[in-house]
Amino acid sequence: MTSCAVKEGASRYIDGAITRFDQKNEMFNRPFWDPAFKDLYQRFYMDTVPPKNLPGYDLHDQALVNAAWHLESHYAHGTNSGNHGVYAWDWTRRFDYPRVPSGLKIPAEHPEEITPYIKSAAAFFGASLVGMCELDRRWLYSKSYKKDPNGGTSEALQIPEPFKWAIAVAVEMDYGGVGCAPASPASAATGLGYSKMAFTTGLLAQFIRGLGYQAIPCGNDTALSIPIAIDAGLGEMARNGLLVTPGFGPRVRLAKILTDLPLIPDQPIEFGVWDFCMICEKCAKKCPSRSLPLGPPHSTPNNISNREGVHIWHINAETCLPFWAQNGTDCSVCIRVCPFNKPPGILHDLVRRGIKNLPWLNRWFLWGDDVMGYGKKKSARRFW
Ligand code: SF4
Ligand code: SF4
Repeated sequence: MTSCAVKEGASRYIDGAITRFDQKNEMFNRPFWDPAFKDLYQRFYMDTVPPKNLPGYDLHDQALVNAAWHLESHYAHGTNSGNHGVYAWDWTRRFDYPRVPSGLKIPAEHPEEITPYIKSAAAFFGASLVGMCELDRRWLYSKSYKKDPNGGTSEALQIPEPFKWAIAVAVEMDYGGVGCAPASPASAATGLGYSKMAFTTGLLAQFIRGLGYQAIPCGNDTALSIPIAIDAGLGEMARNGLLVTPGFGPRVRLAKILTDLPLIPDQPIEFGVWDFCMICEKCAKKCPSRSLPLGPPHSTPNNISNREGVHIWHINAETCLPFWAQNGTDCSVCIRVCPFNKPPGILHDLVRRGIKNLPWLNRWFLWGDDVMGYGKKKSARRFW
């Protein structure tokens, strides 16, 4: 990929007309309104999952999943329509402690001075990665969708013009938990990621409000997280339909904050993921539901849960989610097996540098990944 294309951020993947995505069409919402997935509503959202006498599926494992999701499920709802709990869009009450007088505002003229404060605060509140970009309004949902057992409700989404910037936040998922995918420790890693997303962005939004500006913290709601994260320089698009980051690969959860606080944007990055995915098909070959494509990327969506007008590897969410329901977990096999999913270390960092700078050795790096046995499923016994 040329450096000019990389500078375009997420626009580098666009090859046709795109319209804003309707959140209703996101796969987790379709069981609420799409007759084709009526049975999935029952199986995925309503049925309980009795523990099994199997490592990774027993009561300890499932209790861990429930606990990891607790903050997200009860105080945030970042997988729903937005503007709930920790993800509230404003803060009308007085600050409690320490008391901050209302009406104070830092000057907006020097974004180069305030941007490092925002990055430090994000890290302090728990972000593993943070980046800034100008908000590209094509990534905002056209409508939000509020899940409801009676069918859900759609609402046109309007984000006022002064919200010109976005802060992309990534939180690392637990390596050991993801290593057990598709068993429950991986679901716990996912749930903990969602709870941390809410905690981190909710507090960071409150920090921005304390500086005198507006902030909308979002989980999966309100806008597409991946293109914002690409624009903000956090990573690249990959075959598994996820953002791959330099330090954690796809083993992150993404959130964002929209704000009227002027910030210095980060530069989009490229470190060899696209070229590596061209020769590596591990995620597609290992996907239990065959929901990831083999071969080169293309521009044809599989169904309404994909975006039109983008040249990427389109995942088939219509077959992915039923596997989750069948297995009783959130899967994550496509994260576990990805060669970029490794913690930092001398050897891993050397290979990452090789993938970036010596792409003609990619087949050799891939062979080495197989020989070393990376990406194999770990027993949940080792997790505990
Ligand atoms: S989450 Fe699992 S089923 Fe879904 S695409 Fe990834 S590997 Fe396949
Ligand atoms: S497993 Fe291979 S093909 Fe899939 S996202 Fe990772 S690097 Fe790309």
